[in-house]
Amino acid sequence: MTDVYTPADLPAKIQHYIDGEFTDSADGDTFEVLNPVTNETYVRAAAGKKADIERAVAAARRAFTEGPWPRMLPRERSRVLHRIADIVESRDARLAELESFDSGLPITQALGQARRAAENFRFFADLIVAQADDAFKVPGKQLNYVNRKPIGVAGLITPWNTPFMLESWKLGPALATGNTVVLKPAEFTPLSASLWAGIFEEAGLPKGVFNLVNGLGEDAGDALVKHPDVPLISFTGESSTGQLIFGNSAPFLKGLSMELGGKSPAIVFEDADLDLAIDACIFGVFSLNGERCTAGSRILVQRSVYDEFVERYAAQAKRVKVGMPHDPATEVGALVHPEHYDKVMSYVELGKSEGRLVAGGGRPDEFPEGNFVQPTVFADVPSDARIFQEEIFGPVVAITPFDTEAEALELANNTKYGLAAYVWTNDLKRGHNFAQSVEAGMVWLNSNNVRDLRTPFGGVKASGLGHEGGYRSIDFYTDQQSVHITL
Ligand code: NAD
Repeated sequence: MTDVYTPADLPAKIQHYIDGEFTDSADGDTFEVLNPVTNETYVRAAAGKKADIERAVAAARRAFTEGPWPRMLPRERSRVLHRIADIVESRDARLAELESFDSGLPITQALGQARRAAENFRFFADLIVAQADDAFKVPGKQLNYVNRKPIGVAGLITPWNTPFMLESWKLGPALATGNTVVLKPAEFTPLSASLWAGIFEEAGLPKGVFNLVNGLGEDAGDALVKHPDVPLISFTGESSTGQLIFGNSAPFLKGLSMELGGKSPAIVFEDADLDLAIDACIFGVFSLNGERCTAGSRILVQRSVYDEFVERYAAQAKRVKVGMPHDPATEVGALVHPEHYDKVMSYVELGKSEGRLVAGGGRPDEFPEGNFVQPTVFADVPSDARIFQEEIFGPVVAITPFDTEAEALELANNTKYGLAAYVWTNDLKRGHNFAQSVEAGMVWLNSNNVRDLRTPFGGVKASGLGHEGGYRSIDFYTDQQSVHITL
């Protein structure tokens, strides 16, 4: 294969980071990390087990009970978080280079995600100093106020899509509120997570506040979920893994935040601006390689504009540039891992019997190796098709016609998921009413997937439990104790 790119100065191995030290697993075990362009092993990472989680939780617990971090003023913690944001920003190109190499994401999109990670830290650094808690006075009788307290050791379990950014989404609020953490990043993409340790040390985060244990979900992740000294688990990943973690946390009555899978609809009404809708629906499912929880992976189109939409959409999908992840011209890179590639390809094959293939449908000829998939579009997909119902998490989209608004709503709500929905119409009233009725945690009306960090983020149905974003994240990572005083 031509043009295989390898960043300079890759680490010789990826280790855990516990109590301020890089360390191997207690049993010395490691796992392979693959380059998604060649599927060759480029590094081995420490495979954490129960013993490593125990060491990490003990360090985090010590930092919580004895260390300065939970006792610092919000203003002091905020300064450290701003320094973290500064460092991430100043290294955005290197972070993007490593993330793109490890995950197969197009480099320009990985750069956007690195900047977003810095922004997450900056946002929670500001929010924690602006935090105001309730106080209620009953004149002459009682004063009531709220003591907000960090909870303890937060267990953070993250997926492999946009790994560094998604880790920042949990690390920012968990640390801003004074907790200490154990992060278990996804085993497909451990490279960028290993950079946090150096960034945090440089920013002055006290020892033991941040701990990182790599490893498989069923080993390291499971041990973290089942550790009695970890009262909180913030998890992002597949709905089925979320169900398992929910069950495993039950005996401990842990606090849970679950950001899970999706099969989000984009609904295009006949009065929509088709140029805008087509562009957005292309971006919605093909950006980030389609490995995006909020991907608009089902497009529902009103019958009167259906044929035109399908024809124009398919033509545009064929123009989406598949390429090497490090190439700035690339719009779809390599899928993260051969196991995931096989899963996506099995849906591409299935789709050929469930719908009408109008674009893509296989591996691009120019990439005989690696996890490359053509942007693939199926039209006329019935709602009971598996490619309509199941999360594919790749550059594959199903298009289905509808006649009436009621039918569009029924189709939109007809999956177990409820993460996002995108509505395209120039009828304002219809847009707002549809948003009200659609079963989705987040709705974008005539809009691409862009959001203000103050808004709630989360899904309904099988897409999640609880909301983070803005002060909701602060609420998740803190206890609010009410104090009542007789006057
Ligand atoms: P996954 O569920 O396979 O893994 C996620 C993490 O959980 C990994 O770190 C994994 O090691 C760990 N894990 C696996 N089994 C575990 C267990 N038994 N106990 C504890 N931890 C365990 O998900 P994935 O394939 O890495 O990520 C893709 C999924 O994530 C998709 O479904 C996607 O929609 C979802 N996602 C959701 C959001 C959101 O905000 N809603 C965002 C990004 C990704």
